[in-house]
Amino acid sequence: MKDISCKLLVIGAGPGGYVCAIRAGQLGLDTVIVDANKPGGTCLNVGCIPSKALIHAAEEYDRIAHLASGRNALGITAAKPAIDLTQTVAWKDTVVGRLTNGVSGLLKRAKVKMVHGQARFRDGKTVEVDTETGRQIIRAETIVIATGSAPVELPGLPFGGTVISSTEALSLTEVPDRLVVVGGGYIGLELGTAFSKLGAKVTIVEAQARILPQYDGELTRPVSKRLQALGIEVMTGAKAKGLTKAGGTLLVETASGSEASLAADRILVTVGRRPVTRGWGMEELVLDMDGPFIRIDEKCQTSMRGIYAIGDVTGEPMLAHRASAQGEMVAEIVAGHRRVWDKRAIPAVCFTDPEIVAVGMSPDDTQTSGADIRVGIFPFSANGRAMTTFAEDGFVRVVARADNHLVLGIQAVGQGIAELSAAFGLAIEMGARLEDVAGTIHAHPTRSEAFQEAAFKALGHPLHV
Ligand code: FAD
Ligand code: NAD
Repeated sequence: MKDISCKLLVIGAGPGGYVCAIRAGQLGLDTVIVDANKPGGTCLNVGCIPSKALIHAAEEYDRIAHLASGRNALGITAAKPAIDLTQTVAWKDTVVGRLTNGVSGLLKRAKVKMVHGQARFRDGKTVEVDTETGRQIIRAETIVIATGSAPVELPGLPFGGTVISSTEALSLTEVPDRLVVVGGGYIGLELGTAFSKLGAKVTIVEAQARILPQYDGELTRPVSKRLQALGIEVMTGAKAKGLTKAGGTLLVETASGSEASLAADRILVTVGRRPVTRGWGMEELVLDMDGPFIRIDEKCQTSMRGIYAIGDVTGEPMLAHRASAQGEMVAEIVAGHRRVWDKRAIPAVCFTDPEIVAVGMSPDDTQTSGADIRVGIFPFSANGRAMTTFAEDGFVRVVARADNHLVLGIQAVGQGIAELSAAFGLAIEMGARLEDVAGTIHAHPTRSEAFQEAAFKALGHPLHV
């Protein structure tokens, strides 16, 4: 097979790698991208998109089940729903297929060459790829590592049999009767809630004192309340130890130090993700590391000249939109543009019920920085749109500097609140002050009015509370 020489080689076609390659192609750089799997990476194939499809199906099912229960105030009656999970999964796969084909089309349009196979570094400028038709050598002036992350396996709970990762959970064809979720973080809560709505008896085992420990207690309270209403048992301060000899039962060390046994049809382990940095020759380059992640500077450059790294492989937050933003920036840097990572905030959204959004600094973050702040909170129980949609749990919280009212952070919890993340992000990125948010006309009746009201509240003159 003839060797390939190119200006830019991107390893990994997830949201980091494929965005980088598309932008590089648009800028006229001779670009090659390699992936061992379908383009789209974790996010499109076994992450963001399939999980949100499953969450949507579960919400629809739960809504109809609620109407069918006869306990709704709307005067609507409905028959008890049923679900054919095989069909749901097939629909999810169609959505995934449309998106991954779309990515292939975009890469083609940008004149990026796609090579399928596992890449392996030979040296800092050369990579070999085992393709279906043989070994392909690729030489590049610049290489971008975008190999992403993989689920963490617990020593006593190797994946296989009843013990599954999020990847298998997203393709189950039957709803398990009893599902134990180990890890009450992003994936555990998003998927645990979905399976509970579909009829599984769900138990969540979380090692920390609270679920979603990365968010403050005020933000997670409405989520805990909903988990309880759904009948999900949450064990906090509890560590998964392993399976009983016969299998099918999880041994847990509880907060009090005693041992509990949890019988389960499936045990979903969601205790974090690890960067994909080993087993493909990267170790031999001896790049500077930041713990398990590749160390990068404000241009995503690694310690070796001509090698960049982006996305999950570079650390927290492991989010698709961070990976894509890094990818877009690196493509422009390679094309000679002057760019550095100067983002003020990376929005985080947790698709729980209700959803959580966090952008910028929380009141707790400002305590460590010592900044003098003002905080305004507006509850959805005082928002007309929320009342008309049975979505009164939650609030919008705005954190601003006390002296000049510069908005430092915005957090919210509430139904459908994910869609406000762009407005929150824009306010912070544009350097908005409380007066800017309060002075922007927010359409009525929408949940977004709670954002404007939170700003009024922080300024000391709320209108609707
Ligand atoms: P990845 O998407 O992991 O892509 C890396 C690619 O590199 C893969 O396609 C892999 O096959 C390829 N690769 C690795 N090694 C090699 C090699 N040696 N040779 C060739 N190819 C290789 N994030 C959000 O922002 N929002 C969400 O709602 C969200 N939901 C999620 C739900 C789940 C269940 C999971 C698991 C993750 C979710 N994430 C979410 C996280 C998101 O998927 C990741 O942050 C994102 O995919 C990281 O992008 P990346 O480009 O860095 O890597
Ligand atoms: P996570 O870090 O969000 O949560 C892992 C949880 O497992 C933590 O709360 C931790 O305390 C707990 N834990 C660790 N060891 C344990 C043990 N032995 N027993 C019990 N609990 C234990 O990780 P995740 O849920 O696997 O998700 C991985 C990453 O994927 C996230 O950090 C996030 O970056 C990304 N993700 C994002 C979204 C989103 O943006 N909506 C959705 C899913 C995943």
